[in-house]
Amino acid sequence: MDESDILAARSLGDIRARMAAAQKRFGSGAEGVELVAVSKTFAAEEVLPFLKAGQRVFGENRVQEAKEKWPALRGAYPDVQLHLIGPLQTNKAREAVALFDVIETLDRDKLAKVLAEEMARAGKRLACFVQVNIGGEAQKSGIAPVETAAFVARCRGDYGLDIAGLMCIPPDGVPAGPYFAHLAELARLSGVTGLSMGMSGDFELGIAMGATHIRVGSALFGYRPKSNAQ
Ligand SMILES: *Cc1c(COP(=O)(O)O)cnc(C)c1O
Repeated sequence: MDESDILAARSLGDIRARMAAAQKRFGSGAEGVELVAVSKTFAAEEVLPFLKAGQRVFGENRVQEAKEKWPALRGAYPDVQLHLIGPLQTNKAREAVALFDVIETLDRDKLAKVLAEEMARAGKRLACFVQVNIGGEAQKSGIAPVETAAFVARCRGDYGLDIAGLMCIPPDGVPAGPYFAHLAELARLSGVTGLSMGMSGDFELGIAMGATHIRVGSALFGYRPKSNAQ
């Protein structure tokens, strides 16, 4: 073990302990919460210590970056599960289906249709989360809250997709609690159980509000220059 292995194991242990404390305090205790380690902008050699420490579920926000980084890592750790957490253009859907195991950013009919076609073509069925623009922000992607239940129904019925849950990125600088609560309500209305909500700054709150998946980047991997963040 070198120093980076020790630091990664410690950082992962800290987050897992905080997750367990939040689950104990707020959760039903029945179901585990999945930690999606957001490795965007970090190089393969910076991710490797986390694989060595036992982490297997990772999130990337760009198809191109994932394509450069993950095939080799996956060769060494075949049980890795990769989540796409950034916007997906339809012309990248084929590559996304080849690279990822879960798509968290399904947000429009055109994409649902193309993803369904590409999954059929590849003989793969990826679980998807529908991204909801929970704060109604012009600069953020996601389906409008009021359209969510109908969109989930179309994704399942018309496109035959496996919809595991809903995902959101709440507005910056205001408390996330009401947005998380709204997403949980939309999940109930849509008939889905998965809730991907909570990041480094608010994952305990996410767990308190019923998150099944949290997406944690900087609290695990360290500082990420803002210009590369998204
Ligand atoms: C970058 C990113 C995260 C992780 O953010 P941190 O604050 O570093 O934990 C989570 N979700 C999405 C969609 C992201 O783009």
